[in-house]
Amino acid sequence: MAKQYVYNFKEAYGLGKELLGGKGAGLAEMTHIGVPIPQGFTITTDACTLYYKSGKKLPDYLINDIYNAVAVIEKETGKNFGGAHNPLLVSVRSGARISMPGMMDTILNLGLNDVTVAALAKETGNERFAFDSYRRFILMFTNIAKGIKRDEMDAMLEDIKKKKGYKLDTEVTTEELKELVKKYKDYYLKKFKEEFPVDPKVQLIEAVTAVFRSWDNDRANSYRQMNNIPYEWGTAVNVQSMAFGNKGEKSGTGVAFSRSPSTGENKVFAEYLPNAQGEDVVAGIRTPLHIEELQKRMPKVYEQFIKTIKMMEAHYKDMQDMEFTVEDEKLYFLQTRNGKRTAAAALKIACDLLDEGLITEEEAVLRVEPKSLDSLLHPTFDPSELKKLKEDAKGLPASPGAATGKIAFDAKEAKERHAKGEKVVLVRAETSPEDIDGMVAAEGILTKRGGMTSHAAVVARGMGKCCVAGCGDAVIDEEKRIVIINGKTLTDKDVISIDGSTGLVYIGNIKKVDAELSGYFARIMKLADKYRRLHVRTNADTPRDAQVAAKFGAEGIGLCRTEHMFFNPDRIFHMRKMILSETVEGREAALEELLPYQRDDFYGLYMAMNGMNVNVRLLDPPLHEFLPQEADKIQELAKALNMTEEHVRERIDYLHEFNPMMGHRGCRLDVSYPEIGRMQARAIIEAALKAQKDLKKPLTPEIMIPLTLDVKEFLYVKEIICEEADKLIKASGEKLNYKVGTMIEIPRAALLAGEIGKEAAFFSFGTNDLTQMTYGFSRDDAGKFLPDYYAKKIFEQDPFQTVDQKGVGKLIKMAVTDGRAANSELHVGVCGEHGGDPLSIEFFNNAGLDYVSCSPFRVPVARLAAAQAAIKAKKSK
Ligand code: PEP
Ligand code: MG
Repeated sequence: MAKQYVYNFKEAYGLGKELLGGKGAGLAEMTHIGVPIPQGFTITTDACTLYYKSGKKLPDYLINDIYNAVAVIEKETGKNFGGAHNPLLVSVRSGARISMPGMMDTILNLGLNDVTVAALAKETGNERFAFDSYRRFILMFTNIAKGIKRDEMDAMLEDIKKKKGYKLDTEVTTEELKELVKKYKDYYLKKFKEEFPVDPKVQLIEAVTAVFRSWDNDRANSYRQMNNIPYEWGTAVNVQSMAFGNKGEKSGTGVAFSRSPSTGENKVFAEYLPNAQGEDVVAGIRTPLHIEELQKRMPKVYEQFIKTIKMMEAHYKDMQDMEFTVEDEKLYFLQTRNGKRTAAAALKIACDLLDEGLITEEEAVLRVEPKSLDSLLHPTFDPSELKKLKEDAKGLPASPGAATGKIAFDAKEAKERHAKGEKVVLVRAETSPEDIDGMVAAEGILTKRGGMTSHAAVVARGMGKCCVAGCGDAVIDEEKRIVIINGKTLTDKDVISIDGSTGLVYIGNIKKVDAELSGYFARIMKLADKYRRLHVRTNADTPRDAQVAAKFGAEGIGLCRTEHMFFNPDRIFHMRKMILSETVEGREAALEELLPYQRDDFYGLYMAMNGMNVNVRLLDPPLHEFLPQEADKIQELAKALNMTEEHVRERIDYLHEFNPMMGHRGCRLDVSYPEIGRMQARAIIEAALKAQKDLKKPLTPEIMIPLTLDVKEFLYVKEIICEEADKLIKASGEKLNYKVGTMIEIPRAALLAGEIGKEAAFFSFGTNDLTQMTYGFSRDDAGKFLPDYYAKKIFEQDPFQTVDQKGVGKLIKMAVTDGRAANSELHVGVCGEHGGDPLSIEFFNNAGLDYVSCSPFRVPVARLAAAQAAIKAKKSK
C-alpha cells in the first residue's frame, strides 16, 4: 500500500508529534477528547521531507491525496470548496514537532475568490464580513505564502482610515473594503505580473508548499540553531475548516493560557477581541480586551470556555496555550499546546501541578527548561531605588527581568551595537519574526502595540528576555529614530530601564541587586538534587566567584585557572621577571616573590568552599601572553629589571609563537621549567595545610596537570609535584592527603588514557581544547567561519557550545572506559564550557562521568540538566 501522507484529524489520533507536528497531534487529540474544533486534516512531516527530496515540489499523488482530504471535509461540513453555494474556507498553518515562531504561521480564509465571496456574503447576510475576510486572505496570502512584506498593503488600509477619520478597522465600511480588495489585487498583479489565483485548489497547494518552504527560511534556521532543533525533522501542515470570529458582535477570537505564562498564577489568563480574526491578536494590530468582556457579552459561551480549558489542562497535565474563536455564539478551539512560560512561571506551575497531584516529582523536574533558569539568576532593579522613582511610562509586564540600555530602533542596529559591546534596549512599535536576532542581542524589548500574547511577548518569554509590551504611552517614530516618553524626546543616545515584571518604564539607569533564590526555585532545585547522579562543581579563580557558585549550589571547584591570578597589576611584574630570567636561579627568585600571592589566593578558595573539593590547575597559557607589547610598557619593564630595552624585546621576540594554542603551554612549561610547577605545588599544599587547620576539616587538594599528552610526560610533572608536596607535609607534621590528576584535552591523551589512568587520580575533560584539537579549529577564530558551516548545513550546532557526541564524544567515552579499566578509583569530570550546556550534560551523564564543572551562573542550570538527564536515562531503560 502506498504511504499515507495526509490524515484526517479523526484518524490521526495517537500517531505522535514526530509525524503530525505538535499542532497536528494536538488537533487529533482534541478531537479525540471531545473539544469542539473545526475539522480538517494534517499533511505529515514526512511529506515535508518528500517535498525537499522531490526538488522542492509536491508529487502529483500527494496533491491528489490533499484534494481527497478536502473532499472529506466538504462531506463533513456540507460545504463546497470553491463552490458558488455554501463555500468551504480553510486555514493553513505550519506545525513543527516543536512550535517555532520563526516559521510561516497562518493563512486564513483560503478558498475565497470573487464567486465564493459573493456566496458567503449572501448566505451569511453579512457582506461586510465576507469582504473583510476576503481582503485579509489576499493580504495573508501575499505576505505569508508569497513572502511580500505587508507594510504597503497595511498602509492602504491605514490610508482609508486616515481619510475617513476612523480609529478602528471595524469602522471601515463594506464599500471601502471592496475597494481595498481591488487595490490588493492590483498590487498583487503589479508585484507578480499575474492575477491573484482564483482557483482555491491552486491557492491551497501554493499555501502548503509555502509552509514547507518556510522550514528552510533564515528565521527558521536561526531559531532551530538557537534551540537545537534538527533540520531533518521537517514541518507538518494543518488544513482546517474556518470558524469566523469576524462575523459580527456575536463573534470574536482570542488566545488563552490555562495559567499565567508570566507568573504561573493558577487562573485562566485570556484575551479576547470581538469581531476579529486570529492574526489581529497575535500580530498586535489591535490591543485585545480582558476576557471578562466575553463573560459579559456571552456568559454561556464563557462558561463552556472555562470548563473546556480546565478539562484540557487536566488531560494534558500541563499549562495549555490555546487559540479560540467564537462564531455566532458557537465556541471553537483552534489549537492547544503546552504553553511557553517564563522561568518563574515554569517553577511555580511545576510545583503547583505536583501539589495538585497531577504530576510526579520527576515530571516536575522535567517541566522546567534548564537554560531558562539563567533569567532568574541575574540581578533585578534595586527595590529601594525603585521606591524613590516614579515611572515615566507603563506597559504590560510581558516577560520578567530588568533591562537597562541605550535605545535601538531596529533589530539590525541592536545586533550591530551589541556586537560592539554596547548594551541596548530594542524599542519598536511592534516586533515581527524578522526581529529575532535583534531581540537576542538586546538586553530587553519595549513595544508600543500588542498584548501579552503579541509576537514580542511570546518570543521574549521563550528566550527568558525582559519585555514590556503594549506601552501605549511611548510615541515611537521609527523613521526619525525617536521615541517620546513622558514628554521627553529620546534618541539612540539615551538610556532607558524597563521592568518586565511590572511593565514600568524609566528614563535613565537604575541600580540592580542580586536575585533572590528561594521559594519555588529552591524547591525544584532540591528535587533536582534528589534525582541527579552527576555532581556539579564550578570553574572559579577567585574567592568571590567561588562564593557565588557555592550560593548557587556548587559542590566544589572543578577548575581554578591559576593564570588568571597572575594578571593582577601588582603581580604581573613578578611574572614578567620570571619569564624574562634566563637562569634557573633568576626564575626561582621571581617565583619566590609570586609564592605568597598564590598561597593567599588558594587559601581564599579553600575557605570560600568550606571543606568542599578544590581542584587547582597548574599554569596553562604560553608565557608570551604575560609580556607587554606597548613601547612604554617595555621601557618601564626594562628599567625595573635593570635590562636594556633591546634585551627585553629580544626575549619577547624569542617567546613569540606562530601557533601559541599548540605551542609552549600547559605542562610543557613544567617540562622546561620545573621550578614553576614546584612553586605552585608548594602554594597549594601550604594553603591547604593552613585552611584545614582554620576550617577544622580535613582537606584533599586536587592538583591538575594541563595539556598532558602521554603517561611519561604526566609522570615527569607528577613527580615534581609529589616530591615538593611530600616534603612540605612531612615538615609540617600534619596529615594531608592530596591527589594529582590530569586534564584530558589533547586527542593523544584520550587515545592513551588507559596508560595515563594507571598513574592519575582523576581525569577532567578540557572539552574546549579537546574540541579545538579534534576538529583542528582554532577556538579563537572558528567563530568567523562557522556561520558558513551552518548556512551550508554541514553543522547545525556550534561544537564549542554543545559537545560533538560523534567525534569528541567518542574520544571521551573511550578515555572513560580505558581509564576506569586501568584504575577503578579514577574520578572523572569535565571542565570545558560544555560542562554548563544541558544537551552536553545529558551526554556526560550517559557517558558515566562523575561530575561536570561550569561557570558560577550556570551551576543551577547544570544541576537541573543533570537531574533531567538522570530521569530520562532511567525512563529509557
Ligand atoms: C578546556 O580546554 O576545556 C579547559 C577547560 O581549559 P582552558 O579553557 O583553560 O584551555
Ligand atoms: Mg584547555
